[in-house]
Amino acid sequence: MNILVLNLPFESRIIRRYKCSYYARGFLYPPEELLRTATIIKEFSSNKTYFLDCIAKSKGLGDVFSFVRSKRVQVIVTMLSVNFVHKDYETIKKLKNAFPNIKVIGIGYIPSHYREEFTGIDYILDNLFEERIFNALKEKDLIKGIEKFLKKPLDFDPDIIDTDNRDLIKASDYSELFCRGKTAFLHYSFGCSFGCNYCIHAYDLKPARKRSKEKVFAEILDICRRGYKNIKFLDDNITLDADFILSLRNFVKNNRIKANFYGLSRIDLINEKTASLLKEANFRRLYIGVETFNKDLQKYYKKNINVEFSGLIEKFNLLRKKGIETAVWILYHPLKENKSDVIENARKLKKLRASFVNIGVLTPYPGTDIFQKETDSIRFQMSPFMSEFAGTENIGDIERSFFLSYLKSPRSFLRYAWLAINHPVASTEIVSGLFKFGKKGSARKDFI
Ligand code: SF4
Repeated sequence: MNILVLNLPFESRIIRRYKCSYYARGFLYPPEELLRTATIIKEFSSNKTYFLDCIAKSKGLGDVFSFVRSKRVQVIVTMLSVNFVHKDYETIKKLKNAFPNIKVIGIGYIPSHYREEFTGIDYILDNLFEERIFNALKEKDLIKGIEKFLKKPLDFDPDIIDTDNRDLIKASDYSELFCRGKTAFLHYSFGCSFGCNYCIHAYDLKPARKRSKEKVFAEILDICRRGYKNIKFLDDNITLDADFILSLRNFVKNNRIKANFYGLSRIDLINEKTASLLKEANFRRLYIGVETFNKDLQKYYKKNINVEFSGLIEKFNLLRKKGIETAVWILYHPLKENKSDVIENARKLKKLRASFVNIGVLTPYPGTDIFQKETDSIRFQMSPFMSEFAGTENIGDIERSFFLSYLKSPRSFLRYAWLAINHPVASTEIVSGLFKFGKKGSARKDFI
């Protein structure tokens, strides 16, 4: 059977994860879920498996048609985004119209929760897509296997594969933000054990499920042998397991690993000991969602970071002194905040002296606690996809005020000027994105 694992074409560069999607301005990650899926199919079957990332390769639907025709593709496995799900569905319907005999297996958070809206997709897979495909491959015919395992209760297996098959991708197609050299992307854990009520973890798993450390370290050795200079953990929270950071530090030292590491963290998990271990494990940057400085909003978000502002300053100082960059995210709640709150947040962020900052509008995604809690204040529709609070349409104005205020400080301005000089391509992409803020009709109204 000829199987195409396809990252669908789109009008701009986006990243599709199982439970979220965003614009890729200044960076691009491989479609990790699809890469893992292609790895499973290649490793556990004799099917002819192709992998086509239309986002990385700037391919359109016409290119996909030619590919499907020339390779005589019989099954397409793809993943639908969240914010752009209606457009992805339109693309799939066009594919099905052109090739009615091809079976389409669509992985997707929104489609698996609203199956009745996506009847044009032959088979819809939920967050256990890896296990469903793995089991389906045990049958002689993949499609018969999919039918058998489509809704069976299965358990998520973090060690289903030992490593992503990186022969399927070209390293230079992808990059981490403001980062030089080839970057490899991988997971240690999937999901998150915390309960922030707005959060969409990439794999929709709680508590987090962890891979075997030995397998992660073997994968890192292989990544280094392939000449990658940077390694980005795609985990929702790489500091969730302090023991892993300790083991990683020992592994890095014992094997004289030179690659730099990048990952996401919560600030309350950072202390003197963790910061030292991260430094010794070659961590170059942490992405940290501070989200709000307002205690009431923290409670409302169930973010529960019990750290005073002075404590936050200390923790950020700690990381900076260790030479670890910090990228900080802050949220804007359209119903509970206004422009002056955003300007106040920018003022406080300057005091944290993060390497760079970003602001995003709070989006109440279906399936999150906040979506249930605020149902009456949410505008929700499937096509075009919309799940937002009233006031979200002003996000362009809010984001501009935030950045103008943040960049007023000479230190912040110089930091961004330095980034622009050292990373001109990424910076140009980001600046051109600034002009699309709040574009009418765009599926996401914020910058990211
Ligand atoms: S800690 Fe981060 S990843 Fe985990 S639930 Fe909260 S926002 Fe989500």
